[in-house]
Amino acid sequence: MCYAIPGRIKGFEGKFVLVDYFGEERKAINELKGLHAGDYVYAQGGFVITRVSAKEAEATLSTWKDLFFELQEIDKEGSKLSPWGGARYTKVRDLKDKVVTGEKLTREETKYLLDIKDTGELDFLLNAANYIRQRHHSNSCCVHGIVEISNYCAEGCGYCGISCLNTGLKRYRMSADEIFEAVRSAVEDHGFKALVLQSGEDPSRTIDELVFIISEIKRRFGVLIFISFGEVGKSALSRLYEAGARGVLLRFETSDADLFARLHPGSTLEARLAEIRHANELGYLIITGALIGLPGQTSEMIARDIELAGELNVEMLSMGPFLPHPLTPMANVPAPSVAGIVKALAAARFALSSQVKTLVTTGLETLAPEARREALMAGANSVMLNVTPLERRALYEIYPGRAHQDDAIQTQITDTITLLEGLGRAPTDLSIGKQ
Ligand code: SAH
Repeated sequence: MCYAIPGRIKGFEGKFVLVDYFGEERKAINELKGLHAGDYVYAQGGFVITRVSAKEAEATLSTWKDLFFELQEIDKEGSKLSPWGGARYTKVRDLKDKVVTGEKLTREETKYLLDIKDTGELDFLLNAANYIRQRHHSNSCCVHGIVEISNYCAEGCGYCGISCLNTGLKRYRMSADEIFEAVRSAVEDHGFKALVLQSGEDPSRTIDELVFIISEIKRRFGVLIFISFGEVGKSALSRLYEAGARGVLLRFETSDADLFARLHPGSTLEARLAEIRHANELGYLIITGALIGLPGQTSEMIARDIELAGELNVEMLSMGPFLPHPLTPMANVPAPSVAGIVKALAAARFALSSQVKTLVTTGLETLAPEARREALMAGANSVMLNVTPLERRALYEIYPGRAHQDDAIQTQITDTITLLEGLGRAPTDLSIGKQ
């Protein structure tokens, strides 16, 4: 866990530094040279990303100090377990107890949660997932930014609006300078500490170019970089890590090999998983997950999706709805219900409890804007804001009408901070001091 507030270095332990946040100690891998005890740093995803001057750090900390503890109290209050629910829904209560004592759920047990239909039992599931989230992760909420750097794609994924099969789409590829400016603005104007760079599998962007872009971002800006360019292969993953990327966002989309093959002509689940495992071995933080609402998908498969994410050492689970795009072969497949997605996020919180952050996907917010709050109250503890330049954003049309497509970055930040503060959550990678 990491806060978007500076921490003060207390000491060193091998490659780790010990960082103090208002009396809470955290460990982070240090890749900066010349750090000393007493220095202030920002740490993200377990890595020290930048040093800050004592003056800037102390100003930010004084803004934060009271708020920090106030928010924790609000969250604690809002995530109390319903005694009534616990007395009535004993199976969910027993599974919650199992999770709280550190035991893993079986796939059958996760499936039980996914199959809940009774609205009272479902309410208690969401309440208990929120309780577990608070116990294991306190009130931190990741707020990453995402820059969609190109919508060119060589793949023909059956559900995706930017697939090469959609010949009606206007394509764009941001230049290196345009990417640097988007990143600069996100980091310097808006205070983001962690950014995802995403694109289709763009055949014209060479790995050399990506290596240059990542290393320049790393050199110019103190920010944790996640890459999401599809399957780039082992050697590219290793070069991009050396250039400074520290996270990979790559969903396996479904854990069912046959369904995967039907949706991804010419690709296999095995290759996708090998890529994710390799990234993990290289030291990347992993964001992965699945689409929910795929044709033929069962609750057994979703339980397996959640289990597989755990096996892949997932840092952040990205599990969201399939949304039909009219210019794809799946145009007539209906979208899943909001309730089904929120239930799956709650089940994932039970199954992967202490291990993962779970993301409220833009897909879920597109289905229903108020679902962001619902999901945050059902075990989720991360959001992603779109920091792609406005004139490009609408063209990254993986499905139509994406939430926040037309919202300025500042609007998204203000809305997010207002929501999070109301729930007692502290944004972990967006500095409130900068607002
Ligand atoms: N090339 C990258 C980025 C792909 S787009 C990669 O392969 O990871 C990012 C994500 O958008 C995909 O992982 C997919 O799960 C999601 N996506 C694409 N089309 C979608 C749709 N119609 N509904 C919901 N999510 C979709």
